[in-house]
Amino acid sequence: MDAVAKKPLAVPTFMDKAETDRPGEAEVEAAVRLLIRWAGDNPNREGLLDTPRRVAKAYREMFGGYDKCPAEELGRTFEEVSGYDDLVLVRDIQFHSHCEHHMVPIVGRAHVAYLPDGKVVGLSKIARVVDIFAHRLQTQEAMTAQISGVIQEVLAPRGVAVMIEAEHMCMAMRGIRKQGSTTLTSSFTGAFRDNPEEQVRFITMVRGGAG
Ligand SMILES: [Zn+2]
Repeated sequence: MDAVAKKPLAVPTFMDKAETDRPGEAEVEAAVRLLIRWAGDNPNREGLLDTPRRVAKAYREMFGGYDKCPAEELGRTFEEVSGYDDLVLVRDIQFHSHCEHHMVPIVGRAHVAYLPDGKVVGLSKIARVVDIFAHRLQTQEAMTAQISGVIQEVLAPRGVAVMIEAEHMCMAMRGIRKQGSTTLTSSFTGAFRDNPEEQVRFITMVRGGAG
């Protein structure tokens, strides 16, 4: 059992309860009915009668990341790796998120690497961390930094590299309506930030087997 250093995280984990002030389901359903009317439809027509209830349920699932702590997810178990200290890359972690500006989907893939310094976690934990942050209202930039931040904080590796490629439905469906354009963001810490060769190695490995 390794003790995880208890310094404050640079990234949000649990939201401040007072700020979220979660409403009751009836209140949420009323809000959905209002949005249906705003869209121009009639919330009382048959096909839409159950929609507010379904939307409320879907929101709890799609935004379930507020109830989970990524640091806790990473901190629970470390694996025995008998001296392995080279790059660990988890590539093509598919995710769905929602942009915090329009609350429409962001669909993409994350590539996450770190250079262990004694602590290694199960690979599924990395994917879980991406998933938790994705299940919150996001900007791609913030999400990229949050993933690298929490891994750096909890595992204290020699470096973390995160790259996210995503399509923003708010760009595809509204405004400038640019379909198929992908936004790329990256975040590097430690050796990845300081050593261009490590960055190149990361990008080469990410690109290596992609599509
Ligand atoms: Zn947006």
